[in-house]
Amino acid sequence: MLAAVFAREGTLEMQERPAPSVAGPSDVLIEVEGCGVCGTDLHILETPPAHPATPGCILGHEYIGRVIETGPEVASLRVGQRVAVAPNISCGVCRSCKAGRPNHCVRFTTLGIFRDGGLARYNVAPERACHPLSDALPFEDAVWTEVLSCVANSVANVKPQPGETAVVIGGGPVGALHALLFRAAGTRVIVTDVSAARLQTLAAVGVHRVVNAATEAVKEAVQEVCPDGADIVVDAVGSELDAALDLVRTGGRISLFGMNSRARPAVRQNTITRNELTIFGSYVGVNTFPRAIALLESGVIHPSALLSEIRPLPELPSALERLRRGDAMKIVIRHG
Ligand SMILES: [Zn+2]
Ligand SMILES: [Zn+2]
Repeated sequence: MLAAVFAREGTLEMQERPAPSVAGPSDVLIEVEGCGVCGTDLHILETPPAHPATPGCILGHEYIGRVIETGPEVASLRVGQRVAVAPNISCGVCRSCKAGRPNHCVRFTTLGIFRDGGLARYNVAPERACHPLSDALPFEDAVWTEVLSCVANSVANVKPQPGETAVVIGGGPVGALHALLFRAAGTRVIVTDVSAARLQTLAAVGVHRVVNAATEAVKEAVQEVCPDGADIVVDAVGSELDAALDLVRTGGRISLFGMNSRARPAVRQNTITRNELTIFGSYVGVNTFPRAIALLESGVIHPSALLSEIRPLPELPSALERLRRGDAMKIVIRHG
């Protein structure tokens, strides 16, 4: 099978690999339908890397597929079951896991980053990572499950209320999914970005106001909608806490979702104290896969409207190029 392999620092190789087979008794073999290409994949391939990964691993952590073989101890899945794979695997026995914080597991690992993932036709995953998915759900929505599970965690942290206003800084896929969930909660959404193409996509899916930070004054644009500042601000970039403090109202909530390990923003601590702000760090999802699937299967949101294009696996290198140029919202790879 063709596989997208993180070969070494800065290098993606499209390699021929033998199809894997079920290794452990609780593993399943998945025929992968398709896989989203993520900003994290771009970070992994930077020089020096902006995200760690294991050299030799098949990339792709946002994938769905169908179970075609099960290990002898697999009880909850049958051959033919369509599944979304939760790629973050926790050990279940460390102190964080036992305390209900599996996303802070000391042995945390991720399919498609530290173990083989879904940018190949076949993949082996543990039974407990696989979440049943309706056959009726269109691929174009289903392929968003993993990203949505992370965003659902962030949105739950800030508890949007009907009639409130949220500002999302960064209109890429995760910013856009925040916007869709806020809108579904009855919360007005303003999204700011510097990409006209992304803002155009967001305006088309019903975001209340899009603000191009390259050409418009963001604070003034937000104040036109909510003079006292936004109830909620999301940093979907990873370095925008200072901007968030400018946009949030007194007593408001901020979710820091984007990740940039190199950012060292100066923090106006007194603004947080004086305005009694609540700031959440939101890291991946915590048991949010079932809710993400419910959001998609019930049709509450349709992230398919955000897709830039669907490409076959051999075209992954050019898809990555397009994402690096920043003119695409989301590209997914569909096998077969
Ligand atoms: Zn991702
Ligand atoms: Zn653990």
